[in-house]
Amino acid sequence: AVDLGGRVALVTGGARGLGEAYARALHAAGARVVIADLLRDEGETLAAELGVDACFVPLDVTDEESWASAVEAALEAFGAVDVLVNNAGIANAAPLEHYSLEKWNAVIAVNLTGVFLGCRAVVPVMKAQGSGSIINISSVEGMRGSPHLVGYTASKFGVRGLSQALAVELGASGIRVNSVHPGLILTDMTTRIDPAKLDIPLGRPSVPDEVAGTIVFLASDASSFTSGAEFVVDGGMIA
Ligand code: NAD
Repeated sequence: AVDLGGRVALVTGGARGLGEAYARALHAAGARVVIADLLRDEGETLAAELGVDACFVPLDVTDEESWASAVEAALEAFGAVDVLVNNAGIANAAPLEHYSLEKWNAVIAVNLTGVFLGCRAVVPVMKAQGSGSIINISSVEGMRGSPHLVGYTASKFGVRGLSQALAVELGASGIRVNSVHPGLILTDMTTRIDPAKLDIPLGRPSVPDEVAGTIVFLASDASSFTSGAEFVVDGGMIA
């Protein structure tokens, strides 16, 4: 089994859905986890359930100052940040004519600018440590086009590109950067999607635990030579 040996992992959007599954799986693999989210109640409840090796920090990923205090709180709690999972995201869907500038700005702010700000806040810590693993959550919609998702798709392609750029820029500092591209996973975000309308070779949608294994792998030394890579976890949907 993978042993993360007390490595410190900060998971954005870690209070529910996929982020919660990542936090639980990293903790189960021996990491100390920082659950960073807008949702204080859910985040504090999860941290309390996980116990001493977990804490909640309030974070709005779109806000530079919020990032500074979250990283400071993580360092105060555990003294390091070894793994950053940029998972917080929103899904704004609408046909182009109804895709308001407000909708566009919101999805870019959380899904793309949030990842940029997270990397910028954590990289100095990782550089000082001489190592780190950054795991950026994109989507299958960061690999192809789908209707009614113009802003979401642009944000997720952006996350993929940002990950490639940083993998090259940060490699010499011992920092690995990879992107993960989930397909249809049943969470609060996807309640309105009908799995029957998607052509999924494995024949079913998935649950957050089935993506968490890839996150634990990328957080661990089992992936020590893996950087700038893209991990599609979609049951074969875009093959
Ligand atoms: P979710 O809505 O269940 O959870 C999203 C979490 O992000 C929530 O805890 C929310 O509070 C947090 N969040 C939102 N805005 C935030 C902000 N500004 N600052 C901090 N936290 C914020 O969604 P999910 O399905 O768990 O999705 C998680 C990630 O996975 C997203 O980036 C999403 O785009 C991506 N993804 C999901 C699927 C899927 O099928 N569910 C597929 C591909 C990619």
